Amino acid sequence: MTAHVIDGKSYAAQLRTRLAGEVRDLAARGARPGLATLIVGDSYPAHAYERRVARLAADLDCHYVREALPADTNQADTVAAVGKLNADPRISGILILRPLPDHISETVLYRALDPLKDIEAVHPVNAGLLALDRPRYIPSTPASVFHMLDRYLTDTGRDPAQVYPHTTLVMVGRSNNVGKPAILLGLARNATVLSCDEHSHTAGLLHHYTRHADILIVAAGVPGLITADHIKTGAIAIDVGINPIHNPHTDTITLVGDLDPDVTQRAEAISPVPGGVGPITDTWLLHNTILAAHHAHNIAAAQPNLDGLTLQTHDERLIPTGS
Ligand code: NAD
Repeated sequence: MTAHVIDGKSYAAQLRTRLAGEVRDLAARGARPGLATLIVGDSYPAHAYERRVARLAADLDCHYVREALPADTNQADTVAAVGKLNADPRISGILILRPLPDHISETVLYRALDPLKDIEAVHPVNAGLLALDRPRYIPSTPASVFHMLDRYLTDTGRDPAQVYPHTTLVMVGRSNNVGKPAILLGLARNATVLSCDEHSHTAGLLHHYTRHADILIVAAGVPGLITADHIKTGAIAIDVGINPIHNPHTDTITLVGDLDPDVTQRAEAISPVPGGVGPITDTWLLHNTILAAHHAHNIAAAQPNLDGLTLQTHDERLIPTGS
């Protein structure tokens, strides 16, 4: 068996076409989405991500602001920068880029965000709404994983709503930004979900658990962690990992995922790195920015959530008390 390689770039391009239409519709109502990124310090991956989303914002004719602070900026000044973006009416969504310097508390910064502009659902209110199946925003990386899965299942003639309830889904990694929300999205689709993490005893027995997976999602940040030995024959394996590997001979950096290439011998389908989840994630951030612009202008979004299978996004301010 040689696995099908899922083309994330093509799914991302189709999403961008839809988003361009939504931006035009908003413009006709006198509204324009605005994205702000806040970056503290010189992290290479953070700056690379910032450049990509800045380009996308420009392509989609969204307003864009980049707030870049030196690495030694203190906590109070960083919180003040968030406050400035909260107060700017041209900004509908704010992305705080990680990693942050050690002296900056992520928790404090996330709580300083205006929840309506918190497009990655890192504020406790938005994280809680997602856990309660009432998401205001679905964080872009886990949303992209399920967008990819839903599209792939549909494109191969299967109805995702019928497939997930019969699926064992194993999630490797449980970070707040990827693994945990992906677990919630799997539960919302009625999959049987199993979580593996390096801190639980499953780490040493990883293959024992991953071999049960009809769908395996890996977000550990460990190059080649998952080999053919970890895979059930015919599984779908989604690779979220992005690991820069430095070649000292050529002084170049190559990006690899958490799946070893030999996984293709057993899996039905895999997502590649690069060109898999990453391009959809970038685009989803703009999707959430556009959704935030709808919230800011009290315009009901025609399609609140492009994911849309089981979880609809909500503007909780519009929900009558008691519902
Ligand atoms: P993280 O370091 O915050 O979390 C990693 C998780 O994996 C933790 O729960 C950790 O305990 C677990 N883990 C690590 N080694 C393990 C092992 N041997 N067995 C089982 N579990 C293990 O990282 P993150 O922010 O969740 O990102 C994970 C990876 O995904 C990174 O490579 C990151 O660059 C990448 N990423 C990609 C995208 C994208 O759009 N494709 C977005 C965000 C992150």
